[in-house]
Amino acid sequence: MKAEFSRRRVLQGLAGTAIAVGWSSLARSRITDPATCDFTELPPLDGELRVDLATRTAFADDFGHIASRKSCTVLVPGSVKDIVKIVRFARRHGLHVAMSGQSGTPDLRESHSNFGQGQVHAGVVIDAKPLSTIRRITTDSAVVETGVLWSQLFDAAAERGLTPPVLTDYMHLSIGGTLSVGGIGGTTSRFGVQADNVLVLEVVTGEGRLVTCSPTQSPNLFHAVLAGVGQCGIIVCAKIRLIPAETMARVFHLFYEDLSLYLQDQLTLLGDRRFHFLEGQIVRHAADTGWRYMIEAAAYYTPPAGPDSAALLAGLNDNRSEARITSQTYRDFAFRTDPIVGRLKSIGRWSTAHPWVSLFLPASKTADFISTLVATLTPEELGVLVPGMHAPALLYPFDTALTRQRLFRVPHEPAAFHLSLLRFPPADPIQIQAMLAQNRRLYDQTAALGGRRYVTGAIPDFTPVDWQQHFQPEWDFLVDAKNHFDPDHVLTPGQGIFH
Ligand SMILES: Cc1cc2nc3c(=O)[nH]c(=O)nc-3n(C[C@H](O)[C@H](O)[C@H](O)COP(=O)(O)OP(=O)(O)OC[C@H]3O[C@@H](n4cnc5c(N)ncnc54)[C@H](O)[C@@H]3O)c2cc1C
Repeated sequence: MKAEFSRRRVLQGLAGTAIAVGWSSLARSRITDPATCDFTELPPLDGELRVDLATRTAFADDFGHIASRKSCTVLVPGSVKDIVKIVRFARRHGLHVAMSGQSGTPDLRESHSNFGQGQVHAGVVIDAKPLSTIRRITTDSAVVETGVLWSQLFDAAAERGLTPPVLTDYMHLSIGGTLSVGGIGGTTSRFGVQADNVLVLEVVTGEGRLVTCSPTQSPNLFHAVLAGVGQCGIIVCAKIRLIPAETMARVFHLFYEDLSLYLQDQLTLLGDRRFHFLEGQIVRHAADTGWRYMIEAAAYYTPPAGPDSAALLAGLNDNRSEARITSQTYRDFAFRTDPIVGRLKSIGRWSTAHPWVSLFLPASKTADFISTLVATLTPEELGVLVPGMHAPALLYPFDTALTRQRLFRVPHEPAAFHLSLLRFPPADPIQIQAMLAQNRRLYDQTAALGGRRYVTGAIPDFTPVDWQQHFQPEWDFLVDAKNHFDPDHVLTPGQGIFH
């Protein structure tokens, strides 16, 4: 393991810190004008480079619709070898490279980042979409290329009665994209994040080497890439654990007026794991007079067996008369956000700006944090989608011991609450700026309490110093891995960590 990092020690010997070397000296030689990009020396590709303005413009956007950086070109890879070639070429010619989990024309699949994390100014963006083959499914795992969507893996696995253990709330995200950030969902309370359920990865490092890694084979690379926000390698293929799938879900929506009772019940459910799925939200009272709370929990089953609803609800403090209990297929539950997304698209709110923020709060500090937040939060600060319906604000707990990836940073407490303000404001630059400023304030408050951000989202002015604080105590691991696997700091500048 030590040998993997020998080059970093040389770099450190040359200057005070490894990060300073890579950052300032490389920045001087970096191409900054798209007009000066010259790809004539690039070896022949199986795929193609697209330099037309329409493609580059499409890849200079993402779901956030806030940041925009235009690359010189977009690589539409015809093979993994193309990615190796472009990374090697980029190293030699001072170009940055980033993978876009989902972008581009003609069907307007877009990167789901909020703040330009997958964009590159004057470098190369790689479109993950052509790498969309599910190579193999066995009784307990799937081997998938990076551009496969979770929705596609779900359906392929379902044909064999299997499922990925952890699904995102929105299923049409790329596998490489969510493994690069973590991938949290309602079963994280049982199985950790999606990155915790990866067995093997194929990665193109920033040196342009194609490497297979796992917890036992090149483990430093494996752990630097999972939740590593694209800094050390580009995931091209992943072997993902699958588990047997039930066919049905009994879904419980439980309402609370009182924050402390809500948090107490959430922690009870986290502890006894009586539900398979556990999430929750901050929601409005029916009369729109203020905020209250809703647990969303599900028990999976396959008839004729079925869950005992009374036992599942025993001892909880919700307003029982308001509880909504429904049954639906496991697939319908997994894809439950699709109808909402369809509606948002139909009213034009999918394509406006999305200054989202996602934070991980220490459980012991969550009550104070949320009560302060809701004291002033207005529905307009989330975005009013249609009269009486605001954008979601997620609030649910997870067990930090289950999130085992070194770079998926969580508070130092046994339990944490995931808070996400999934804002859908109208197209008003002043409101959007105000939301970004609020995101920053909420992050600063969170960090002061020992909480962390989720690396998706839009938090402005996030400096390398903020990143250093965020990744502690794994910052040195990340710096070592960066300097070892991406010594010229070619990869994924949009995160603003080393660039
Ligand atoms: C509607 C919606 C719902 C969401 N729901 C959830 C949810 O339930 N749970 C959750 O955890 N997240 C959720 N997210 C956030 C999501 O995980 C991130 O947006 C993530 O970035 C995945 O999006 P993507 O696949 O488009 O990847 P991108 O946004 O394109 O990529 C994310 C980052 O990883 C890098 N990257 C992408 N692919 C690779 C690769 N193969 N190798 C190395 N680096 C790579 C990119 O350069 C970028 O920096 C949601 C986002 C949206 C918009």
